[in-house]
Parts: sequence; structure tokens; C-alpha cells
Amino acid sequence: MSKYRALRGMPDILPGEADIFFQIENKAREVFNLFEFSEIRTPMLEETEVFTRSIGEDTDIVEKEMYSFSDRGGKNISLRPEGTASIIRAYIQHGLKNAHDILKLFYIGPMFRAERPQKGRLRQFHQIGAEIIGASDPVIDVELILNAKAVLENIGVRDFEIGLNTLGCAKDRTEYKEKLKSFLSGKVSELCENCRRRLSTNVLRVFDCKSRGCKAVVEQAPVILDELCGKCRVSYEDLLGMLKKTVVNVKQRTDLVRGLDYYTGPIFEITHPLLGAQDAIAAGGRYDVLTRQMGGPDVGATGYSIGIERLLLAIEGDLRPREDGVLVIAVDADSRDDVLAMAGRLRSSGIACSMDSLGRSLKSSMRRANKEKRRYVVLIGEDEKRSETYLLKDMKKGLEKSLPFDEILKVLQPKGKNVKDT
Ligand SMILES: [Zn+2]
Ligand SMILES: [Zn+2]
Repeated sequence: MSKYRALRGMPDILPGEADIFFQIENKAREVFNLFEFSEIRTPMLEETEVFTRSIGEDTDIVEKEMYSFSDRGGKNISLRPEGTASIIRAYIQHGLKNAHDILKLFYIGPMFRAERPQKGRLRQFHQIGAEIIGASDPVIDVELILNAKAVLENIGVRDFEIGLNTLGCAKDRTEYKEKLKSFLSGKVSELCENCRRRLSTNVLRVFDCKSRGCKAVVEQAPVILDELCGKCRVSYEDLLGMLKKTVVNVKQRTDLVRGLDYYTGPIFEITHPLLGAQDAIAAGGRYDVLTRQMGGPDVGATGYSIGIERLLLAIEGDLRPREDGVLVIAVDADSRDDVLAMAGRLRSSGIACSMDSLGRSLKSSMRRANKEKRRYVVLIGEDEKRSETYLLKDMKKGLEKSLPFDEILKVLQPKGKNVKDT
């Protein structure tokens, strides 16, 4: 065993696995392109306050999951635990409102949370996310949810369910929190220690508690839907109506709250049967007060993120690593230059290949081709050079044929309709 190992919860993404990440990211990019979202790349390190001010002091993320430390100048900095806070920081810093009435952004990258590592829950994990900044109309929430749905479908996720709830406006939420608090105060003996503390810090988090006692209490609790003001009710019903026409698999979920303080109005979670009830593959919602709260303009915004590692659990086996292309083998040491030339010609024609020209025995070169599960091998030696035909071996069918380069191309050309078997 090697002396050094990767940190717990921060696994290497090895060749093959990385290729699947790449495919997922590309499929997401295709959809973002169609919806006209632009990519934004923010740094992985920020001043800690960017996160504490936005996500909230009394959240699990800020209380116990952030990687925070002082830099050499004594500044308190943190690895980003999520994407939205940095994006809003950038939106304000660069005055992006001036150039865009409505700004549609996406991001892809690693996030960091010191959680207890378990299946689908890592300390360095990867998210694909999107934000629409600049308006509060429910039609924007619909556009965002449709985008999340399209991204997941393009990646190949099936059978997911979209759960929807609303947190109302600040006034609704304050009133609801009071009502919830007084309900829970009568049930303190049935609550876990954490939730008793949450009564005075962040009472909504009781909905996220996994303890059985708390779950039973919460099932009887008042729901925020009954506390909405007229305006919030109309806009939520508007949203539900539009979603039911465009997205079939959407479901009202009164138990849904989010673990971050900045959410207001409609929120959603996308779950998949392969992950169990507790783990969403995607989640998001509206955060209309965040930009102003961080010192920026008063603009509505909404966003979501997809956890790539969670996603991998939901598409088990559907994506495969890229297959290796052709192996060009030098039969003798003198053919090395010709192997280089052949590889060049193949690559210019869009065919992926590697060379085996280390001057080893043909047997060991063929063993490599088998180990790498190559479908095709091209052999070059004295005879081939003289005749300008090359030995093409189809490893799968166990066939071989001497062909000029143009004929080899016809066999190997990946998108050609007339791909022949040798
Ligand atoms: Zn309201
Ligand atoms: Zn609890």
C-alpha cells in the first residue's frame, strides 16, 4: 500500500470515471446552450463572510461543514460549500445587472463540505448548477425547473420526481415560524436534542431531522401553504398551474424546506427512487432577498444545483467510458517512423489511436491490444511498407485483411454509414 492516500471523502476520479463525468458535463452543456445559459467560473476560495452572510449562521453548512481557515495574511477564507453565494458576489462586484436585465448562468465544478462520508455524500463533490437573476415572475421558476428537467433527461436520468413547496415571503415565513414554534413547544418531550435547540435557532430545520420521533411530530405540524398571504398564494398557484401543463411529474411536498437561509418563495427538490427518500439529486428555489442582503441591487433570482455523484447513483450503468480506438503496431524496430506517420494520418481523419512502437515482440504488442480491449489493430512491417497495404485486424471477429490506407479508413470511419466489417 502506498504511503500517501487521498483524504477521506475526497476521492480521485480515475480514468474511465473521469470520462463519465465529462460525458455528463457535456450533455448538461448541450441543454444549457439551448436554454441560452452562459457559463460562469468563480474561484473555489472566498472570504468566509460571503458564505456565512448568504447561507446563514445557523445552518448545518456554516455551523459544522465548511472548510475555513486563515490565509497567511490572517484573512478568514473558506472553500466554497455551494455555488450560489459566489455567483451573487460576482454579480454584484462586476455590476452584471447593467448589461443584463435577466442573466441566465450555469456552473460546473467541485464543492467542499466536511460531512460524514457515505454513499453519494462526499467532502469534495461536484455540482452542475444554474441561476436566473433579474426577475421574480413565476414563469422564470418554470423556465428554471424545465431546464433542470431537460438537463437530467439529456444525461439519461429517468423516473425522477419533482417535489415543490413554497416558503412564502418574509412576512409569511415569520408568521409561519411563530406558529410552528408554538406547535412544537407543546411537543418538546418528543423532539430530539438537536431539534429542541432548533426551536430557538432555525425552527424550519426540524423538517430535515431524520430522527423518527421528530418525523412523527412534524407530520402533524401546521403547513406553510395555509399561512401564505394573498399575493404569495396567487403566484404559487400560478406556478403550479404552469408546471402541471409543462412538467408531468411534479408533486406538492409540504415537508420540503431547504437547508440554506437565503431561500424565499417557491423551492423544489428532484428525487430518484434509486437514492431513497432522503437524498435529492437536484434541489433549488427562489432567493429574492439574497442579492440585496449581500449589498447588491434588489433583484429577484432563482437557481438549482445537481449533485453529479448522486446522479451517478441514479444512472447506474447507463453511461460507459469512452472505448479505446485503434492500436498501430510496429512489427519491427525499423517501422517506427511509419507507425508515427500512420497514427498521424488516422488522427487527421478523426480516428483515435495509440502507437505501440517500443520495439517489443509482436506477441507483447498484441497482448497489450487485448488488455486494452481494442477492436482494431493495424500492423506495419517491411512487407506493408513495400506494398503500401497494411494489415488490419478485427480483434472482436478474429479476422484480418491487408488493405490500402483508404480502405482502412472506410472500415474505421466512425460516423460513415457504410462501415464494413473486414
Ligand atoms: Zn407572502
Ligand atoms: Zn430532531
